Amino acid sequence: MNNKYFCYTYAMIQIQYDNVFAHNINNNSLTEKKLTLSVLRLDELHPIISGNKWFKLKYYLEDAKQNNKDTIATFGGAYSNHIVASAYACKLNNLKSIGIIRGERSKNISATLLQAEECGMQLIFFSRNEFNNKSIIKEKFIENNWYWINEGGYGKLGAKGAAEIFEWIDESYTHIICACGTGTMMAGLIKAAKPNQTIIGISVLKGYNHSNEIKNLLMEEEQEKKFILFNEYHFGGYAKHPEALVDFMKNVWQDYQLPTDIVYTSKLMFASIDLIEKNYFPTNSKILVIHSGGLQGNRSLPVDTLSF
Ligand SMILES: *Cc1c(COP(=O)(O)O)cnc(C)c1O
Repeated sequence: MNNKYFCYTYAMIQIQYDNVFAHNINNNSLTEKKLTLSVLRLDELHPIISGNKWFKLKYYLEDAKQNNKDTIATFGGAYSNHIVASAYACKLNNLKSIGIIRGERSKNISATLLQAEECGMQLIFFSRNEFNNKSIIKEKFIENNWYWINEGGYGKLGAKGAAEIFEWIDESYTHIICACGTGTMMAGLIKAAKPNQTIIGISVLKGYNHSNEIKNLLMEEEQEKKFILFNEYHFGGYAKHPEALVDFMKNVWQDYQLPTDIVYTSKLMFASIDLIEKNYFPTNSKILVIHSGGLQGNRSLPVDTLSF
């Protein structure tokens, strides 16, 4: 099943430091350093399974099939990219899907959950308290013989899939920057990185250190590889999007025609630009930002907040 679903177009947009960042940043040191910044547009992969989610899911689905499971069950919130991607990926793979959703079912469920239902996913709602105890929930459905995928696709098979993002990343990139939710994508990138490449993760969670979660997904020899986490770009916490962030997203769209989402990629772009401004990168660094998708989550904003 590997190549069949890779036929979707992907696009890589180049943002040249010369004509773009000089416009935004009042600082000539970047030109002098000859930094280049590119964005890997994984958001263009597919309109529903966008970004990193497909990569993280593929080996779980393969594993489910190999174990003769016909139903996948996983967890997420009302705007979860993982939920909608799982629903669609299961549909493509002729698997049934169950979404365990945090919170009560409201009369008007989110566009994300509606889309998941349209893909055939059965949604089961649990109160926030109950949702936090995943093992009790799994216990409830033990008879059903479902194949469980962790919330956000966290796990070794997820990281194995995410490592394949490197199909689009050549050795010339010195720094690869990604957003970090569960750390699974980052672990995959660390696995695949060459010795000359540094993987940088931008955490979207407040006051959280992903190091151990990431290390748990790496083999012993991979744990020696260099990776760096930044924890100060969460803008108040997971899915928090103060006006300053939304304004930043509008600017990024206006200046680079680059759409970003409120949960992950806007914070990622903000961090990348901020690190450049703060002279974090050595001269001649070639920086690649992984646009991991997630644009569907912007549907939680009031209509017309964004023009993309
Ligand atoms: C899920 C998601 C992430 C986080 O990936 P992890 O592997 O959980 O760290 C980053 N960006 C987007 C757009 C996502 O949907």
